[in-house]
Amino acid sequence: MDDNIVKLFGVKFHKFDEEQAFKRFLYLLNRSKYSMIFTPNPEIVMMAQKDLEYKDILAEGDLVIPDGIGIILASRIKKLGLDKRLPGIEMMESILKYCNNAKKSIYLLGSSADNVEKAAHNIKTVYPNIEIKGYHDGYFDDAEELHIVDKINEVKPDILFVAMGAPKQEKWMYKHRKILNVKVAMGVGGAIDVWSGAVKRAPKLFRKVHLEWFYRIMTNPKRIKRSFVLPQFLLKVLLSRRG
Ligand code: UDP
Repeated sequence: MDDNIVKLFGVKFHKFDEEQAFKRFLYLLNRSKYSMIFTPNPEIVMMAQKDLEYKDILAEGDLVIPDGIGIILASRIKKLGLDKRLPGIEMMESILKYCNNAKKSIYLLGSSADNVEKAAHNIKTVYPNIEIKGYHDGYFDDAEELHIVDKINEVKPDILFVAMGAPKQEKWMYKHRKILNVKVAMGVGGAIDVWSGAVKRAPKLFRKVHLEWFYRIMTNPKRIKRSFVLPQFLLKVLLSRRG
């Protein structure tokens, strides 16, 4: 197995620091092949325990980075060597900065029609040299799916950001891997909501003490039910260490 790859409960991760992850992104962007970037957090690792098809899809990621302090804690306990979390939204920011300098193009797919439009506008304001080739909301039925792929293929963006939540976004990126005419597709969860201004990222202090997840639960009570999986994840980590 590749030295840079570790597995946490069967879910693949690349053991990269920020710089190595970015180098890998550049490599993926410049090769003539479709690539996928995933950013699993504890919730995703737990989903993959029950959904083996999802686990297999995650294993197909060409760059898989740990999003969430829970993964880093698990890695420390299990001595996997993942030292630092690399939030998907921050990787997206580095990619946007690069696209702005290198005049690369993007397409945004996901969130509501209103939010994705606002996100596109705000990205363009901060990064005027990025070519936003298009955007589309993430609420469509199966019948529309191929039409959306066609729309993306017509404009051939370098990078496709897919923000439809897990596991939907990764499954979508994988399902259309053979027909999507983009270089890199990246699953970015709630990032379009953040770019639209509809959702605020946690203040720096929360991020610094690794409590961004807690802030997200507090500010969005709908996430409380989802957060129940976090203690289950930690228990699984502790039990597996004993085992
Ligand atoms: N979403 C979507 N289509 C769907 C379901 C969800 O576009 O069918 C969007 C939703 O509007 C939100 C994002 O997917 O913008 C999921 O955000 P969430 O915060 O749940 O993602 P996380 O970062 O936690 O994975």
